[in-house]
This record gives sequence, structure tokens and C-alpha cells, in this order.
Amino acid sequence: MIQDGYLLNYVNGAWQRSQATEFVEVRNPATIEAIVRVPLTPRDEVGQAVEAAQAAWDGWRRTPPTERVQYLFRLKNLLEEHFDEIARLTTDECGKTFSESKAELRRGIENVETAAGVPSLMQGRNLEDIASGIDELMIRQPVGVVAAITPFNFPGMVPLWFLPYAIACGNCFVLKPSEKTPITISRIAELIEQTGLPKGVVTIVNGAKDAVDALLDHPAVRAISFVGSTPVAKYIYSRAAANGKRAQCQGGAKNPVIVLPDADMDMTTRIVTDAAFGCAGQRCLAASVAITVGEARNVFTEQIADAAASRKVGYGLDAGIEMGPVITTESRQRVESLIGIGAGEGAEVLVDGRDPRISGFERGNFVRPTILHNVDPRSEIARTEIFGPVLSLMHADTIDEAIQIVNAGVYGNMACLFTSSGAAARQFRYEARVGNVGINVGVAAPMAFFPFSGWKESFFGDMHAQGGDAIEFYTEKKIVVERWPKEWSRTF
Ligand code: NAD
Repeated sequence: MIQDGYLLNYVNGAWQRSQATEFVEVRNPATIEAIVRVPLTPRDEVGQAVEAAQAAWDGWRRTPPTERVQYLFRLKNLLEEHFDEIARLTTDECGKTFSESKAELRRGIENVETAAGVPSLMQGRNLEDIASGIDELMIRQPVGVVAAITPFNFPGMVPLWFLPYAIACGNCFVLKPSEKTPITISRIAELIEQTGLPKGVVTIVNGAKDAVDALLDHPAVRAISFVGSTPVAKYIYSRAAANGKRAQCQGGAKNPVIVLPDADMDMTTRIVTDAAFGCAGQRCLAASVAITVGEARNVFTEQIADAAASRKVGYGLDAGIEMGPVITTESRQRVESLIGIGAGEGAEVLVDGRDPRISGFERGNFVRPTILHNVDPRSEIARTEIFGPVLSLMHADTIDEAIQIVNAGVYGNMACLFTSSGAAARQFRYEARVGNVGINVGVAAPMAFFPFSGWKESFFGDMHAQGGDAIEFYTEKKIVVERWPKEWSRTF
């Protein structure tokens, strides 16, 4: 909730002005207009919020799962009712187009729907007569207070990878959203409040590193979910583990796509263009490297360069716009400087998106789609996550060589193959060392009922986000072994 230009925290079922003395400003990335001031909530205040969540936990865990999910059904209906309004907020704080914001919210709602299956999903198992007259049960119980720390690029969807499952399983959930894009989830929390959810079950504390450290160090927080860049993921994973918490930390990415000569080139170009430049390249599943094999090189290079150059860039709420700005001015400068580094390392800037003029939005954080050609797989630009609308082109003589380039990368979030060969598809699926594989698909994002995560430097932990893994992460397994000899009981 926003009050007098300040974002409020949501603690113990009430909207509160933080006692913070430091703030950051959220600006619309297309217009640079200030939208809201975000408090950098101090450590003590985060601690008080966690303690309020802890106090709410006992009542919530005793609420039957069938009742707990009624709040999710109400939330789902409220999200549908306010669908366009929330998507507009996302575009204004994050820059992506209105249709991208709507797609994001749809994926978020799917997680609410999936978590509503918790009366089935959370069941344990049992076996009678593990020895004569002795039965064994495995039951699942909530973990307690759990926290999530989320990135700027999916301000609605990523918090919803966690929140619905956490509370459906009977935990109290504390979110520290991105300080760059905290408005979407704040509005969603207003809808959560309307569901009548008991106070303290969902908490939002705004802030940055200090607020995160307060969550990592507070003994009442039992589990941490993180999504963001790899260096921060590593930090959070190790500090959470040192404090005895379970942790799942999703990191950065550098996702390659391979284009074989037998691919349908028109379809491939269309899909790769969207995968590379959708959300201005600020998706963890954005395609950032395209490796052409054999004769695919010339035709794909020509087609993708045309598609990049003709993509309509502008304010995401304007009709016909296909790509918005990047998140901040610093981000634009970083992306532009990385394009320069690529050129310095010998890549050809085939389509140069630096310093564009977007009529009416001259101050916005725009970088147009950029294509770097003949990128050396060993160069710095080939290894660095750019997180902007830049696609690097490489070339390989064979599919084996292309797969080697894919597997040499330090990240392992996603890799895709474009082909009409079943055997090539099978080889790629089998050999690619990544968490998500796309075959003739450019953004292989798992649906809510499948686990979401990468491999290697893209993920630290074991239980992934969403679906069954989320139930695993948000519950403790308890074993009961019991014996009830007849002679101990009265007979009737
Ligand atoms: P980020 O790592 O800068 O920030 C993520 C969160 O961590 C924010 O809430 C931020 O406040 C907090 N944070 C930042 N620095 C911190 C520090 N030193 N100590 C403690 N907390 C800190 O990431 P971002 O720029 O918001 O998001 C972009 C990154 O997220 C990209 O690297 C992208 O690939 C990644 N991402 C990954 C996935 C995935 O599923 N693997 C999904 C979305 C985004």
C-alpha cells in the first residue's frame, strides 16, 4: 500500500509506515518519473515483523488445510478481477509490455491454483505391519516462519512461486520483495488482506541488504527462498546454511539456443527473437546466445538481424509496443558498456541498440535489440550475464561442438534446440547440462505443477520452486512408529 508517496510494510495484518531513515525511489523506467519511496526497513523492525509472524503460526498450522486453501480460492478470484490493473502496475514499475505483464500474472495465478491442491499434495504415507502389529506413518507438518527474497524482473510471479505453497502448507510467510519493483506485490497483498487471511500469516517487509540479513540471522525464520543474481544467491545460501536454515537459491543465467540447419527458420527466428528480446532480455530464461550449426549460419544471422532491427520499442502500455526499457539508468549503462566490451573483444556489432531515440521517452532506460556477431565462446562477453536485449551469435560445425559450448558455460538455467530431427532433439535433451530444455521452444518455463530451477551456478539447494518441490520445501517430514497391543486396551 502506498501512503503519501511512501510504500508501507504489511506486518501482523496491518499496513505500517516503517521507521526507516533511508529510502530508495522507484521510477517508471520508461519515463523516469518517481512513483514511490521504498523504506530500507532496519534490522530491528524486520525482527519484530518475524516475531509477529511467529506468534501467528500456531493458530495457522492448526487451521485445517481444507480451510487454509479457501483463502487461496478467494485470492485467485480477486487476482482475476484485478488482472489488468495489476498488470499495469507491473509495466509501470518494471518496464515490460502490458502483454508481458499479463503473461507474468497468469503464471503467478497458476501457482495459486496449484497450491490450492494442498489437501492432496501435502498427504503423507503409511505402511501397516512394518513388523507384526506395528504401523509406520510419515506425516508432513509445516516448517514455521519461512521467508522469500525476490528479484526485480518478475515482481508478481516470483513471489507467487513461493507464497501460495508456503501458506497452504501451514507456514507463515515473510517476503522481502525487490526494492526496485515492490509495488505489484504490495497491491497483491492488499487483495490478500481482502481474503480475510488471519493476521501475521503473510508479511511484507521492504528493504535491501540489511532487511535480508535480518531474515537470514533471525532464529525464528526456518527456511529461505531466494531468486536473483548468482553472487547474492551464493551469499544467501551459505549464510542461511550457517544459521541452520533450509535454503533454495536461484541465481543468474546465460541461456544458449542451438539452431540446426534443418530447423524451420521462420518459426525459429520468431521464437528466438521473442526469447532474446522479450522483457528486454531481463528474464532468467532469456536466450542470450544463439549457436548456429553448419549452413544455418547465414540464413539465421540475416533473419535475426532483421527481426532485431525492426522490433518496436517504447512504453509498455502503448499499443503495438513489443519491447520496453531496462530497469534502471545504471542497468542501461551496464548493458551498453558490455556491448562495448564485446566489440573490444572482436565481436561485430551487427545491430547496435545503444543510445536509441525513443520519441516521447527520451529520458527512459531504453536499449534497442542488439546483435553481436562472431562472439568467441572464450571471451568475457560470452560468459557474462548481460540481462538486457543483447543476443550473441556463435557458430559451430557440428551439433556435438554446439553442445560442448552449451556445457562449457558456468550457468545451467536453460538451453534450447531448434531442429526437425528427433535424433538430434533426443541427443540434446540427454546431454545438455541445464535444468530446463526447450525443443523448438525459446522460453522453456515450467508450469506451476512442475519444479522450476536451473543447474550449476544457476541454483544452490535441492528442492526447486513450485509444485511438488514447494510442498517438500515447506514441510517437515515426521515419522510415527506405533504399536497398540490388544492386551493394553479395554475390550468392548
Ligand atoms: P539481485 O541479486 O540484485 O537482487 C535480488 C534480491 O536480493 C533483491 O531482493 C535484493 O534486494 C536482494 N539483494 C541484493 N543484493 C544483496 C546483498 N548483497 N545481500 C542481500 N540481499 C541482496 O537480482 P536482481 O537484479 O533483482 O534480479 C536479476 C537477477 O535475478 C538476474 O541475475 C537473473 O538471472 C536472476 N533471476 C533468476 C531467476 C531464476 O529462476 N534463476 C529468476 C529471475 C531472476
